[in-house]
Amino acid sequence: MRTVATKDELRAALAPARREGSRIGLVPTMGYFHDGHLSLMRRAREDCDVVVVSVFVNPTQFGPAENLDAYPRDLERDRELAAGVGVDLLWAPDAEEMYPEGFASAVEVDASLTAVLDGDPERRGPSHFRGVTTIVAKLFNSVQPEVAYFGRKDAQQAVVIERMARDLDFPVRVEVLPTVRGADGVALSSRNSYLDAGERERATAISRALRTAERAVADGERSTAALTERIAAELREAGIEPEYVEARDAGDLTPVSELNGRPVLVAVAAPVGRARLIDNVVVTQPETETK
Ligand code: AMP
Repeated sequence: MRTVATKDELRAALAPARREGSRIGLVPTMGYFHDGHLSLMRRAREDCDVVVVSVFVNPTQFGPAENLDAYPRDLERDRELAAGVGVDLLWAPDAEEMYPEGFASAVEVDASLTAVLDGDPERRGPSHFRGVTTIVAKLFNSVQPEVAYFGRKDAQQAVVIERMARDLDFPVRVEVLPTVRGADGVALSSRNSYLDAGERERATAISRALRTAERAVADGERSTAALTERIAAELREAGIEPEYVEARDAGDLTPVSELNGRPVLVAVAAPVGRARLIDNVVVTQPETETK
């Protein structure tokens, strides 16, 4: 596996693959790998001839209240883990490389997708997703992958990126893969490193509450307010005050009050200790009832 830092090195490293018409796959990350990241890399390895992983803690998607400097980083460990799953090229640019002096552009997806849930101005705000779409557009342009891999754990991010790629005609297929969880059910996240043992135990309530909601749907619950209220109550019982629990159409993120046969995203954000954790499930009314 090679590691490169600059766009020039990246282009040079990918030139032979491009000449030969090889299929290039990209896994964009902020590093500090866990099994969620590795699941995307393994899938890319199965699907593609050349697997590129980018590691960049993108400053423009962090809000003023979020501590960019405290975000966990360990490039040496990331290199070993990526090499272990057969990644060909690790691209780890610095902020100067991605946002040189005079950088003045942004890519923005409509507020209907980016000013709701995490993008609500009272929460991380739409500037978070402007940061995400801008950096992902730059990564797409530099790597020019045929396929790019994202995790369902960040469900809204995946929806926003799929829409950006479609609307702006990026010639890339966006693949969204399932959330990888620890044995205790907690969705893997680099931010879990902020949790102590007690907080980790408390965090298990999030996935448990989402499972309860899935079971409620299987048992006939159709009101999304009933589902989200039940999740919030279960979290509060466990000592977690959720930032939000919302049910929205999984495709366009519009609010949904009754399950309607289309996939519905039930998303949670909650602070646990120093970490702000997000998790979700997608529920659909059983097909027999929609016929
Ligand atoms: P990050 O480094 O947190 O920006 O994540 C990089 C990519 O890995 C994103 O597409 C995430 O959605 C994905 N990812 C993060 N955590 C998980 C997880 N637990 N399961 C699956 N994918 C994940």
